[in-house]
Amino acid sequence: MQLPTPGLRWKFSKTSQIISMPADYTKVILKSGKDQPLKRFHPWIFSGAIKKIYGNISEGDLVAVYSNKDEFLGVGHYQIGSIAVRIVSFTEVTPDYTFWKTKIEKAWKLRQSLGFGENEETNVFRLIHAEGDGMPGLIMDYYNGTVVMQMHSIGMYFIREELVKALREVLGEKLKAVYDKSAKTLPFKADIELKDGFLFGDASENEMLEYGLKFKVDWETGQKTGFFIDQRENRRLVQQFAQNRDVLNMFCYTGGFSLYALKGGAKLVHSVDASAKAIDLTNENVDLNFPGDKRHVAFVADAFEYLKDIQDKYNLIILDPPAFAKHHDSLHQALQGYKRINTRAFEQIRNGGILFTFSCSQVVSRERFREAVFSAAAISGRTVRILHQLTQPTDHPVNIYHPESEYLKGLVLFVE
Ligand code: SAH
Repeated sequence: MQLPTPGLRWKFSKTSQIISMPADYTKVILKSGKDQPLKRFHPWIFSGAIKKIYGNISEGDLVAVYSNKDEFLGVGHYQIGSIAVRIVSFTEVTPDYTFWKTKIEKAWKLRQSLGFGENEETNVFRLIHAEGDGMPGLIMDYYNGTVVMQMHSIGMYFIREELVKALREVLGEKLKAVYDKSAKTLPFKADIELKDGFLFGDASENEMLEYGLKFKVDWETGQKTGFFIDQRENRRLVQQFAQNRDVLNMFCYTGGFSLYALKGGAKLVHSVDASAKAIDLTNENVDLNFPGDKRHVAFVADAFEYLKDIQDKYNLIILDPPAFAKHHDSLHQALQGYKRINTRAFEQIRNGGILFTFSCSQVVSRERFREAVFSAAAISGRTVRILHQLTQPTDHPVNIYHPESEYLKGLVLFVE
């Protein structure tokens, strides 16, 4: 264990990616009172909370953070932007190779204890859920031997080779390839050209299993890391409600909810997405599992247009839109969007219908989302009861000190 030396710069070469050098950290001092969130282990420091930075600093640097009274608060990665520091440890440690490997090892052990890893029915799961696994700015999704890594933190980018090395040691033979998909998510201010690509191996296998259903995943050009792993348990719940129902899967992307509805015995399933590529993926996945099944039809359409005229057509509707709000500035608009879309569904779903409705916007709290759905119900005048309140699954753990990591909210509603 090494104590940070105030005022000295962290000697860390961005090209060599060596991280286990002596830790002469840059020192960041917070304004008076701004240390409170850190004392409650919240891992983000907003730029407005910083009083002074000693020494030169560049994006991705490791920094030691102190209160106005010179109390040590944590070690983190510095970045230019609204979130200026992401804390990786609240104790005085040097984040060296062993430090990161231990974090990956712990995350892997947790996933194994939750039933992932040697599961014959499901070979896709989230291995590292950023703050939820103590690694802010880093996502690692496991796809049947390939780990797709998505970094939102420059500090994590600089240590990516170390992370891959640790991953290989921890997963051993199971790991066939690591794909870096961070070109669009890294907020570099410096003029650095980034490219997605394999950091290890060269996977050709892109078919996986989720509860026995087959999915083709396109991590190279698909959304996020290629698949919305976070809806696994909610998709399974749709299967339980689907028997004999006429189902609309709005915002279908790869057709996840549609496959479970078909498996659950739906009478018909309509999948809708604005992206033609998503509709191709959906059709491909339906063909993989239910070849020639006439119950399924997919349409390229805008949600708001399609929902104008579906009167009494469906008695199970799934609304899983993209994040309507990416920042606090668009919160009001996002809530209006949730209200509008849910009003349309409430107004037109058949009597005795089931509505699965979701929000994955991190800035929209569970309460605000519920209020938007409640308003929509009231506008429609229908009788609505809550059957389930949904969230993300166990492989997306929520750091209790970082409520923002609980981003997925859902309601299952019975509409009369
Ligand atoms: N339910 C999916 C994930 C949905 S992601 C799953 O379980 O995997 C959100 C999807 O909404 C994307 O595929 C995107 O193409 C689509 N989308 C975005 N805006 C849309 C709009 N206005 N109308 C219809 N689809 C839209």
